[in-house]
Amino acid sequence: MDFAQRLKEFGARSRALDAADPLAHVRERFLLPEGVVYLDGNSLGALPAAVPGALTDAVHRQWGTGLIRSWNDNDWWSAPLRVGDAVGALIGAAPGQTVAGDSTSVQLYNALVAAVRLRPGRSLLLTDPDHFPTDQYIADSVARLLGVEVRRVPAREARSVLAAEGFDVAVAAYAPVDYRTGEAYDMAALTAAAHEAGALMLWDLCHAAGALPVRLDAVGADFAVGCGYKYLSGGPGAPAFLYVAERHQGSFDQPLTGWHGHADPFGMHGSYTPAPGIGRARISTPPLLSLLALEAALTAYDGVDMADVRAKGLALTGFFQECADALLDGFGFTAATPREPERRGSQVALRHPEAYPLVAALVARGVIGDMRAPDLLRFGVNALYVSYADVLDCVRQLHEIVSTGEHREPRFQQRSTVT
Ligand SMILES: *Cc1c(COP(=O)(O)O)cnc(C)c1O
Repeated sequence: MDFAQRLKEFGARSRALDAADPLAHVRERFLLPEGVVYLDGNSLGALPAAVPGALTDAVHRQWGTGLIRSWNDNDWWSAPLRVGDAVGALIGAAPGQTVAGDSTSVQLYNALVAAVRLRPGRSLLLTDPDHFPTDQYIADSVARLLGVEVRRVPAREARSVLAAEGFDVAVAAYAPVDYRTGEAYDMAALTAAAHEAGALMLWDLCHAAGALPVRLDAVGADFAVGCGYKYLSGGPGAPAFLYVAERHQGSFDQPLTGWHGHADPFGMHGSYTPAPGIGRARISTPPLLSLLALEAALTAYDGVDMADVRAKGLALTGFFQECADALLDGFGFTAATPREPERRGSQVALRHPEAYPLVAALVARGVIGDMRAPDLLRFGVNALYVSYADVLDCVRQLHEIVSTGEHREPRFQQRSTVT
């Protein structure tokens, strides 16, 4: 079959898939610019339609008119716990275990220190050598601070290391989805292996929250963190979140003992008494405008079943892989993302030695993905707003670029600060 015929066939399939998509109507809950194919929602989610109005209200009515009264009148005080519970509903956490605020890195620091403190006498902090850089840097710093050692063990080997040396592991810190390749790992199995060894399990959900049906309570996770600006679409720099399983809350001894985590914050005491429950995981005055933007963004999930999000995410990534196999064959790409659905998150990554200029040329055409050094082209699919037609359009335009050599133009060689 020639190229044009294949393209036609994929076109017909993409139209049929979009017509039968039970989540198609959810795309209207996002304000996507005309003529853009957005496959970078795993870095910065698109703008939910509910956000601009919520921000206008937060600025003019709540802040401008309500002034400081809004801490009570608009319940700003409860926002970190209210938004935390809204995130919790998407990650399998019953209410009262999730708090929103600060960045993933800050939440990681808090959770790792608290976890190591819960396992005195154990000297190892297990983490992934392929983990997102900030997770590794924070782990190293926590280890220096508390006098433990970081052991870097790839996710696929972590279970056997836990079985052999787990008696000395305080906490295992992993991600359910590899941020580069999109490979997914079995959260239940790794959590069980950590517990078998008496260790605690901390999950970084940055690439899972809002994309996969995470079941924190059901798998027995101890702690989890994640950001609000990727699949959750809370906006640039959106607050992150921290989950502390209820059974640990009474003994959760976090290092950043800010006054908002105090049992009686307006008693203005000179020493710290932690609040009961998840409230003790609060730190200090949160960025309310961002928090209220995230709260509005999460309404995009109203009435949406995470099982449907997962099913569509897998169908989209599977369709992407099929299109890439058929239309990019012979142009030097190799697949970095597993084919088996259960081993795949919600993104497709391709390797190519010219990854940077190829992505730059795509972006210039309005097809937005990103690249991760040294050679990965990364395409995230947020099932809430990405269509099958988007996926085909991306692969078709990538074919056009690579087959004409468009990406070799000098304007695509200069690297920006953010890739
Ligand atoms: C995106 C991401 C982060 C980002 O951390 P910030 O503190 O929000 O900058 C951390 N960890 C993982 C696994 C990520 O994917």
